[in-house]
Amino acid sequence: MTEVTDRTNFFEGHDPRELVAKYGSPLYVYSEKTLRLRCREMVSLSSCPNVIVNYAVKANTNLTLLKIARECGCRADISSMGEAVAAMEAGFRPDEMLFMVNNVSADELSFAVEKGITVCVDSLTQLATLGRLNPGGKVAVRFNSGVGGGHHENVVTGGDGTKFGIMPDKIAMVKLLAKQNNLKIAGITHHIGSQNWGDLYLAGVDAILKIAREFSDLEFIDFGGGFAIPYNKQNGEKPLDLRALSSALDSKLFDFNKEYGKSVNFIIEPGRYIAAECGVLLGTVHSVKSNNTKNFAGTDLGFSVFKRPTVYDAHHDIEIYRGQSAASTKTKNVNIVGNQCESGDYIAKERELPELFDGDIIGVLDAGAYGYSMSCQYNFRPRPAEVLIQLDKSVKLIRRRDNFTDMLANMVGL
Ligand SMILES: *Cc1c(COP(=O)(O)O)cnc(C)c1O
Repeated sequence: MTEVTDRTNFFEGHDPRELVAKYGSPLYVYSEKTLRLRCREMVSLSSCPNVIVNYAVKANTNLTLLKIARECGCRADISSMGEAVAAMEAGFRPDEMLFMVNNVSADELSFAVEKGITVCVDSLTQLATLGRLNPGGKVAVRFNSGVGGGHHENVVTGGDGTKFGIMPDKIAMVKLLAKQNNLKIAGITHHIGSQNWGDLYLAGVDAILKIAREFSDLEFIDFGGGFAIPYNKQNGEKPLDLRALSSALDSKLFDFNKEYGKSVNFIIEPGRYIAAECGVLLGTVHSVKSNNTKNFAGTDLGFSVFKRPTVYDAHHDIEIYRGQSAASTKTKNVNIVGNQCESGDYIAKERELPELFDGDIIGVLDAGAYGYSMSCQYNFRPRPAEVLIQLDKSVKLIRRRDNFTDMLANMVGL
């Protein structure tokens, strides 16, 4: 049950059980090698020279990973003031960031203006607010191009019925408001959603390029993120066909370059594609039982540690790390659950896995994106530590586990 991480030599010879013994459980483990590989794939996705990769910082905000992504040539897509602060701390300059705002306060907008970060608004009212705060400045506008898709309703961010973007029938209003507020529209963007395979993404590219033709003086056109990763590797799911995507994208971009008559940058905003596969979440089985028809393995991987199964009903492959001598060939249908006081607290449902025992160390694969960044302290549990397996194979602690002093510190007035 370790063939996926064995195939890429994810742990570089380290025994996950020893990592847990040293750094505690649960533990997020990242592979620098995998992170760099995924960054490189995105940076070289298109042979069109004017393509920029803005890594979506919300997928994983660890400073060490951000710094590596920047070294690999990524810029930053940020969605809050906090993410801007983290990105700057990791070395990104304000002119390397695009702030994708959704219902943010005037304070957050002022912060961006002060720092010189380009803001991308996604409503007419926020366009007017920004105009008031930054007269004579630049702005980007997020449209809802009508294309949307994703692995779960909660991640579809384009098309009818989502809260994001401005509908294309408001283009005239956008132009008028920008003019009234003395703002230059430097770029347009959209983001269709997450976990999309090539075709829908390309349909989205066509849709936003169509909107771009309505603007004569753009500096950039941003196609958003949402590239899919194979979460079902144990069942043989194949990765995104980058070569096919790349050639289809290239022909669109070269054509548009010719047609537009002015040099314009194209931006892609991958989050999950860059961060998901470089992370494995390790946890410990603390209890096994059968309640009538269902078998449960109870772990320390509650949804405060890893939310994707609970929030999106997401599938993550599970590995079991156990010495060869203790290997069990008997499989069992099992529900892997967490330690939180909620019945929606699960990691994997109805999986056929080798029988699990107390003390087993398990790994949740592809946990690098929307793992730690969505974790919380529910049940007043400390968030886990994060370690990085570096290129030289050594292991470095890159975030320590919360402790109770940290957790109590913000509560005042007792
Ligand atoms: C979340 C987000 C992304 C990244 O999405 P992934 O599915 O992780 O690639 C990109 N752009 C915007 C505006 C986002 O909100």
